[in-house]
Amino acid sequence: MVLLWLGIGIGMILIIYLAIKYSKTQKNEYVKFNMQCIHCGSKINGLKCIKCNGAQH
Ligand SMILES: [Zn+2]
Repeated sequence: MVLLWLGIGIGMILIIYLAIKYSKTQKNEYVKFNMQCIHCGSKINGLKCIKCNGAQH
């Protein structure tokens, strides 16, 4: 039973670690997406893409 709880503890730490890592990557990608349009790839510098604005849902 002690080993089981240890396993759960390690699992939870791993999940938290992965969640932090994932959120950090997502943040970086979000910045990247902000600088560049996801759809056409043109530089928008944090602004909405004029080409795709209205076309996307
Ligand atoms: Zn675009």
